Amino acid sequence: MTTNQNLFSTAQTLMPGGVNSPVRAFGSVGGTPVSMVQGRGAYLTDVEGKQYVDLVGSWGPALLGHSHPAVIDAVHAAVDNGLGFGTSHPLEAELAALVRSRVPAAEMIRMVSTGTEATMTAIRLARGATGKNLIVKFAGCYHGHSDGLLAAAGSGVATLGLPGSAGVTEAQAWETIVIEYNDREALQAVFAEHGGNIAAVITEATPANMGVVAPEPGFNQLIRELTAADGALMIFDEVMTGFRITEAGYWGASGRQEGWTPDLFTFGKVIGGGLPTAALAGRGEVMERLAPTGPVYHAGTLSGNPVAMAAGVATLHHATAAVYEHIDRKAQVVAEALAAALTDAGVDHTIQKVGSLFSVAFGTSATGVHNYAQAQAQESFRYGPFFHAMLDQGVYLPPSVFEAWFLSAAHDDAAVDRVLRALPRAAEAAAAA
Ligand code: PMP
Repeated sequence: MTTNQNLFSTAQTLMPGGVNSPVRAFGSVGGTPVSMVQGRGAYLTDVEGKQYVDLVGSWGPALLGHSHPAVIDAVHAAVDNGLGFGTSHPLEAELAALVRSRVPAAEMIRMVSTGTEATMTAIRLARGATGKNLIVKFAGCYHGHSDGLLAAAGSGVATLGLPGSAGVTEAQAWETIVIEYNDREALQAVFAEHGGNIAAVITEATPANMGVVAPEPGFNQLIRELTAADGALMIFDEVMTGFRITEAGYWGASGRQEGWTPDLFTFGKVIGGGLPTAALAGRGEVMERLAPTGPVYHAGTLSGNPVAMAAGVATLHHATAAVYEHIDRKAQVVAEALAAALTDAGVDHTIQKVGSLFSVAFGTSATGVHNYAQAQAQESFRYGPFFHAMLDQGVYLPPSVFEAWFLSAAHDDAAVDRVLRALPRAAEAAAAA
């Protein structure tokens, strides 16, 4: 019989760490990675036939749940016409129009294939449009794995405890200034010292790669004010939050209320509906600096691939207000039950939650988690036993304490009940760690 263990053993001889993306290797939680072979609604099935309630959602794209019939039908219809032509295709403009209808400040859109490509291109565009070099990012924010953005990055870099990445030149690192998240004084100091040389500040709309960390009220607005005053661009990375957090992306909630807009957005995950599509978007005059209308080069064999566009269009069509209300409600139920189970087991913690995105941070109730230093200082050793107790009981959580939990439109009462029933035993395991 094919087992997770023998598949992983073989994979390790063929692929570094046996995986194609580091966090999948279970490095920080230990044990054998699970090979999933099917996703239906709120559930995944592994190669051994075991079923799990999925709280990873393909790391974000599965907003509607796995194999949503409308998305699968749209993909089938697209596939029937061919897999891609490297030409213009009607669905590209359809997806772009859908994005703009939900985020009006995304005046023009360039489709790319991954979130990494979106942020990398946004950085190049910011430099090309401003003629300046420096990029400011926040510790613990993850913007993909392009060289200049790996300094003090979250996600897998945080999980592995790395300061950055080997292979990134000093020159690249020099041009990225990293400061603590939510630190207004540090941000002001950066502009006082380097004003005039900053091409962009890039930030996650709400960070979710060091666990979830809420922007303190007015923090995003301060980024907007300082960048605008200095002639730098503000890049709002919504690869994780875009079309997942309610009101059409986090920007919709905070930005519109506060009356500001970023210059550039990056999107990914949900807009590809599970296939490889991401995008950068923003002010028309900036976006038109991209080739072929401008001098900043970006191209992609698979950019705007029709099968991926079909999945994205179908997903956004079905991402209705009712879907967001459902996900928000279920996330609230799970987050509250998680807090209650940990409290009952005597485990000190905070639940870090913004909209439907949440994560747990152990041993942090005295300070909460407002930045990367606090996220790293938590009792992360409690997560491995907690994770495995959930896995044993058929709940698939992100295999790292620094990642957010994702619910979907398909998480009905039965799926949520299974999660709730598993929590007390997992909380006991965390307590015993
Ligand atoms: N930005 C953010 C905020 C992300 O969460 C991620 C991926 N988790 C990326 C960029 C990179 O996206 P991708 O993995 O598609 O390259």
